[in-house]
Amino acid sequence: AGRADFVVVANRLPVDLERLDDGTQRWKHSPGGLVTALEPFLRARHGAWVGWPGVADLDVEPFLDEDLHIHPVSLTAAEFAEYYEGFSNATLWPLYHDVVVPPVFDRTWWNSYQRVNRRFAEAAAEVSAEGATVWVQDYQLQLVPSMLRELRPDLRIGFFLHIPFPPVELFMQLPWRTEIVQGLLGADLVGFHRPGGAQNFLWLARRLAGFEPSRGQVGVRSRPGVVQVGDRTVRVGAFPISIAANDLDRLARTKEVQQRAKQLRAELGNPRRILLGVDRLDYTKGIDVRLHAMRELLAEGDITVEDVVMIQVATPSRERVEHYQEMREGIERAVGRINGEYGRVGHPAVHYLHTSVPRKDLVAFYCAADVMVVTPVRDGMNLVCKEYVASRHDLGGTLVLSEFAGAAAELTSAFLVNPHNLDGVKDALLAALNIEEAEGRRRMRALRRQVLTHDVDRWARSFLEALGTPHAE
Ligand code: UDP
Repeated sequence: AGRADFVVVANRLPVDLERLDDGTQRWKHSPGGLVTALEPFLRARHGAWVGWPGVADLDVEPFLDEDLHIHPVSLTAAEFAEYYEGFSNATLWPLYHDVVVPPVFDRTWWNSYQRVNRRFAEAAAEVSAEGATVWVQDYQLQLVPSMLRELRPDLRIGFFLHIPFPPVELFMQLPWRTEIVQGLLGADLVGFHRPGGAQNFLWLARRLAGFEPSRGQVGVRSRPGVVQVGDRTVRVGAFPISIAANDLDRLARTKEVQQRAKQLRAELGNPRRILLGVDRLDYTKGIDVRLHAMRELLAEGDITVEDVVMIQVATPSRERVEHYQEMREGIERAVGRINGEYGRVGHPAVHYLHTSVPRKDLVAFYCAADVMVVTPVRDGMNLVCKEYVASRHDLGGTLVLSEFAGAAAELTSAFLVNPHNLDGVKDALLAALNIEEAEGRRRMRALRRQVLTHDVDRWARSFLEALGTPHAE
């Protein structure tokens, strides 16, 4: 399908291959934050996307999807289990999220991670034109920058990590810590959500890879730091990701969404207040925290099921990885217990939806919810809270947000909570449930000012500008 000047490399393609019952296959557009963010950008530049098509044990040829080169990388079922479910999601994911559950260190998984990263690097080398810009995404592909640089020294390579980068002490547990740091240092620019992540990485680069960051530039906010690797300069900085805020704002204003939001409230029996949680079913998201807070508020008589209901959307996720199954059972037990103890016929306390909600419905949920509850124990950014804010042109609704979400640095007018402090979460929920209208509007106005002026387009441009590529324009 030819070579491209601008290439994105990510674990997944923006399209998924679907196997139909009659044995045929077709491509389906796969939504998701990263795709929404980068696809229009890439299309406008006739770029290429290198990624896995979502089906194992299948070779798929590169093809052109209108303006976009699609460059599939194939994985065997064993590689998917070892590189993706294993090393990415049972080693790196928990390690980078403050070891919320113990990371598994398995040498077979590591070998697979290396092998698959090499395959992605080779695919990127093949599809990139002379001097092209290649933007590598996320924790599944941390070795790609240096592997790609070896194959193609002419390229400009950026890397962005979409999850937190952990404290130094935790990262040092990783048996392959030096290889990962060296892998990332193959890039010209390494980006994180938060300045703290960038600082941790700079320290590790100096310590593990034997390079001295040039003096005076380390840790300066929004002015990326620098690592000198021989005669190469690697820049390191913070670039907080965001959402397509204006699109969401527009969608939330449509009659259809407003109608659905109204209908939803009616279906719930027009309670005084609706609490909403929307998360992938992941142990980092603190779904248990808010259920626990809800149960105590009901038990202590601060709220009743006639007055307040909670909707919890829990999108199925990584169901073959061990801790996810346990966690799902724990959460479903907690929901059952709350409803058993405090629900009435026709008035459950918690409406629990173990499903993925289509975008329009999700925005209707946002519009209907009086209090959005986002309580992760660790989250790289958390886009759901930004989506909630972008949906509330009416200035209604209140956000309760964990300090441990990257978004907390920007959304300081939310009720910020420490999810480990149950009393603090309960107090914030009560304050949000009973907030005076003027105060709620004041807070929402401030939140919207931040979210609507810092959208995902601005994020991509600022990263690419720092990378020094003409594609930033
Ligand atoms: N989302 C969705 N349907 C759902 C639940 C979530 O489309 O039923 C989307 C949501 O709109 C958001 C993304 O999934 O864009 C979740 O991103 P976030 O950063 O909050 O969490 P992640 O899942 O990436 O950890």
